[in-house]
Amino acid sequence: MPQTVKFQIRDGALSGARQVPSPNYNPRPAQAEIQLAVVHNISLPPSQFGGGYIERFFQNRLDWSLHPYFQSIEGMQVSAHLLILRSGEALQFVNFNDRAWHAGRSSYLGLKECNDYSVGIELEGSDDLPFTDAQYEALAAVTACLQQAYPKMQHLAGHSDIAPGRKTDPGPHFDWARFRQQLHHFKNK
Ligand SMILES: [Zn+2]
Repeated sequence: MPQTVKFQIRDGALSGARQVPSPNYNPRPAQAEIQLAVVHNISLPPSQFGGGYIERFFQNRLDWSLHPYFQSIEGMQVSAHLLILRSGEALQFVNFNDRAWHAGRSSYLGLKECNDYSVGIELEGSDDLPFTDAQYEALAAVTACLQQAYPKMQHLAGHSDIAPGRKTDPGPHFDWARFRQQLHHFKNK
């Protein structure tokens, strides 16, 4: 078993994560409190892993000419707070106290604009492949840490839950029961 990385949050920054700052963020609205974690999947090109393209994409530094698929997302300015690679390594792009651009048009329990009050966590993956053990481990550890730092962040949803009909991630392979069980385990440590 790989050693679990110790995560800690200070001033919205996650120690234990590689810091990869993205310019794609803005302040949260004054009254917004973090209440929701949104789980996503992403891979660039789709269903291919590694290569560092996701981090370049979130930094507006992706060379669009490298792959035909990249041309379909050319010029998009998006981000997430975190990306968890297949290895379980976590990368932080946006401070948790800021508003990352991951949800798009969305609503959760009648509350629109999920970016205002959520943390966006991308798993390197796709709708057609299982996620890795290391990813579940890191996701649970990070979520436990977030819930300690932001006690109102008790809601967990997929991108497909907050933007149904428009988004399908994290997809049918994401095991919510496993995630909740591992999260429970971390919270009781
Ligand atoms: Zn998504």
